[in-house]
Amino acid sequence: MKRIAVTEYLEIDLSTEMWHCRKCGHSLISAGRNYKEGCLVYPRDPATAYDPQIKGERYSFAPDKSVCMFVEFYCPGCGTLIETEVLPPGHPPSHDIEIDIDALKKRINYGQA
Ligand SMILES: [Zn+2]
Repeated sequence: MKRIAVTEYLEIDLSTEMWHCRKCGHSLISAGRNYKEGCLVYPRDPATAYDPQIKGERYSFAPDKSVCMFVEFYCPGCGTLIETEVLPPGHPPSHDIEIDIDALKKRINYGQA
């Protein structure tokens, strides 16, 4: 088993070609797919992240939730917040990390004596 750290909370197991949480080791999804599809997803109203600036009114610096949402991606194994992105409501998650597994294996001579 050879795991390669990709971000602070994500790693890839080269033997199984799966994304894993680095905090608890939970298997998320195939490394050929978007790791966000293996996470718990919480589309959050931006108003919940900003305190109101005027007492008694709901004025803050939060963007309007009809324009964008704060989408949080959590590990289903331990609940660690793995990633957050700002997206228009209903927009699919961005595919921000795409790893060429074969090239990575070749680069580190994985599977060779
Ligand atoms: Zn985890």
